[in-house]
Amino acid sequence: DELVSQIAAGEVVERPASVVRELVDNALDAGSTQIGVRLVAGGVRAILIEDDGGGIEASELPLALKRHATSKIRSLDDLESVTTMGFRGEALAAIASVSELALVSRTPAAGHAQRLDARSGELSPAARAQGTTVEVRELFFSTPARRKFLKSDSTELAHCIEAVRRHALVRPMVGFAVWHEGKLVEQWRASDESQRIKDVLGEEFIDNSRPLEAEIGPIAIRGRVGLPAAARTRSDHQYVYVNGRYVRDRLIAHALRSAYEDVLHGQKQPAYVLFIEIDPARVDVNVHPTKIEVRFRDSGAIHQAVKRAVEDVLAPSGA
Ligand code: ADP
Ligand code: MG
Repeated sequence: DELVSQIAAGEVVERPASVVRELVDNALDAGSTQIGVRLVAGGVRAILIEDDGGGIEASELPLALKRHATSKIRSLDDLESVTTMGFRGEALAAIASVSELALVSRTPAAGHAQRLDARSGELSPAARAQGTTVEVRELFFSTPARRKFLKSDSTELAHCIEAVRRHALVRPMVGFAVWHEGKLVEQWRASDESQRIKDVLGEEFIDNSRPLEAEIGPIAIRGRVGLPAAARTRSDHQYVYVNGRYVRDRLIAHALRSAYEDVLHGQKQPAYVLFIEIDPARVDVNVHPTKIEVRFRDSGAIHQAVKRAVEDVLAPSGA
């Protein structure tokens, strides 16, 4: 079972940023309004994620670490309409198999928090307010071959921050803070969507982009699209969300590229943040363990909708 978990971990946990992504997903699913991320050595030595969400009952703590144990869906049918970030019940088990993991959690009803040490299975009383802290230390300590593939601490830190940024853009009402070795390195206060985009991507992106809002058939798209004047805007500002989930999708990326090609003839690297909403039954998020890939039922319609909406913003008729 240890081996199976470690193989599964290979798919979910590639580097500290993958741990950050999964743990922030969990904190969001728990209804948190404040999420703190504390990192040591780019996350390799320690990743602590603290939230103020609903917490985990003491009796449920061991279950949270079990493979394929999820509290989020009850049947396969639920997969068609999944609204939580998690549903596979793999992340905590996978992370625990390649690190020293502890869960500290307190529900609103509990008199105090409980701490579960994953390795020993030991449960002990602990002190903290309502919510959960997941502590992940010495990532890949038992799999030196994996650890060898990690880059410098500063590179791993940058990836961790990027993982939080991806969540922060789509959850403006949640406050986020990231510390590295005790120093606050990023903070995004609870806000609204347009303020959050400004806070995360910078004023320059706002000044050099236009808002997009379109409804095309069953697809709703909103966000901001970078203009050619934004020569200095970082071209790595490319964020696409489908039903609140950050995705890297070749179809959508292609639609965006071809819209920029057609209107701006490649003068400009696309920069954008797009929130796409679509009936969950029309998109499969269970394609890859990390859920970063999706599969659309009607990919042609999606491609066309995105391309048209972006072209309309880049070259507004009558402007
Ligand atoms: P999944 O998110 O797919 O359900 P995970 O392995 O990520 O699977 O988490 C397992 C379970 O642990 C979750 O279903 C949830 O019940 C519980 N859990 C994990 N993290 C938290 C958290 N921060 N707050 C509350 N419950 C949590
Ligand atoms: Mg999860």
